[in-house]
Amino acid sequence: MKNSCPVCGNQIVGRSDKKFCTVNCKNKYHLPSKNKKGDQIKLVNKFLFQNLKILDAIFQDEKKDKLMIPKILLDKMGFHYPYCTGCYVNNQKKLYRYIYNYAWMEFSDQRVMLIRSSSIHRK
Ligand SMILES: [Zn+2]
Repeated sequence: MKNSCPVCGNQIVGRSDKKFCTVNCKNKYHLPSKNKKGDQIKLVNKFLFQNLKILDAIFQDEKKDKLMIPKILLDKMGFHYPYCTGCYVNNQKKLYRYIYNYAWMEFSDQRVMLIRSSSIHRK
């Protein structure tokens, strides 16, 4: 009786002691846990949460809901630019990215505009 591969479910052809159909599947099976899906999700969540914390900190003692800050400050705080919870392009073709109750937009190479949710215009 043929065994099936625990990774992809294909039938295993060849020696009866083979556990995987291909080397690829064998490698997949033995990948370290950091490459597994659950951990990737955790990592993304971590980055999103870090971004949220950074924006929380910036807005903490701020009365305004709109701020222009140097990009270098976000860099220094460890902001993860590609990670956001949504995005929106306004009629001036500016890309706004949402992080939960905040949004930010790269105003120029040096400056980033941050917006707190009460002033975010959602469609
Ligand atoms: Zn396989």
